[in-house]
Amino acid sequence: MKCALCREEIQGEPFKYKGKDYCCQACAFEASVRIGSMCGSSATVEAGMRYQRGLTEAREEIRMAQTIAIDGPVAVGKSSVGKSLAARLGYNFVDTGAMYRALTWKALQLGIDPNDERKVPELAGRMQLEIAPDSASTSGYRVLLDGRDVTSDIRAPAVEAAVSFVSRIPEVRRKLVARQREMAGRGKVVMVGRDIGTIVLPGADLKVFLTASPEQRAVRRYKELEQSGKVVDCESVLRELKARDTIDSTREDSPLKPAPDARTIDTSDLSLEQVVDRVYELARNAKCSSKRLPTE
Ligand code: C5P
Repeated sequence: MKCALCREEIQGEPFKYKGKDYCCQACAFEASVRIGSMCGSSATVEAGMRYQRGLTEAREEIRMAQTIAIDGPVAVGKSSVGKSLAARLGYNFVDTGAMYRALTWKALQLGIDPNDERKVPELAGRMQLEIAPDSASTSGYRVLLDGRDVTSDIRAPAVEAAVSFVSRIPEVRRKLVARQREMAGRGKVVMVGRDIGTIVLPGADLKVFLTASPEQRAVRRYKELEQSGKVVDCESVLRELKARDTIDSTREDSPLKPAPDARTIDTSDLSLEQVVDRVYELARNAKCSSKRLPTE
């Protein structure tokens, strides 16, 4: 038997209202509002209205994406957008780039060649890596590697230059992807990287792919580096960024590319707030209403 309002199959006992059958109390109440027959004492009507408002909130909650994947090339703003969006939603934020960077930093420290397909994955398997939220840090998190805080070390130019070699080793990806899925499994999450929508969380409720021209991204990265007191020239930032983009998008395992169902946002002419607003709007309507709540 189908619900007289939402047309979903009724599971169990139907809710009866004016001779019709409904799948849930919410549908029965909504039907009474639509028919315009909601009547009674003011207390009853107020209770009904409160119920209706709760229903609207419940619908919003149900439609809100719980897992959000944000991918894109170097310096497109993934981390800033992800961090800000996660804070607005009260979700966990996971920057997967930090994991590849931490592994690269450790390999360099130990004198391991970033291309070594045996030693680097072995290192990935035994390193104790923890990414803990920290609002005092500009990235929004602290990276602890084997007990040492490496949050700023992993941004060093030597790490930048080597990380794409480390991240193209399939066995490294297998190990880190397993950890990333475990982190996402803890609940509401905004995860950013290169392969989140395609490989790590292909079932994510919302997948976003951010783009901007290499030149615009290089200027943004240059300003960031300048602000943090690092001496660089814009040309070399652009060269480095293009080199990483090429390796990341042409590697055989999990290349950087949008998932077929990803929403692409060109961030070139948008401020950080505007990008966050757009992703937030997409997240709000990412899932359609549940079986137990009526559609409008
Ligand atoms: O995002 P970020 O610049 O910190 O990433 C550093 C590097 O880590 C990327 O250039 C890429 O090689 C690698 N990476 C990856 N897959 C991810 C995240 C980052 O291969 N999901």
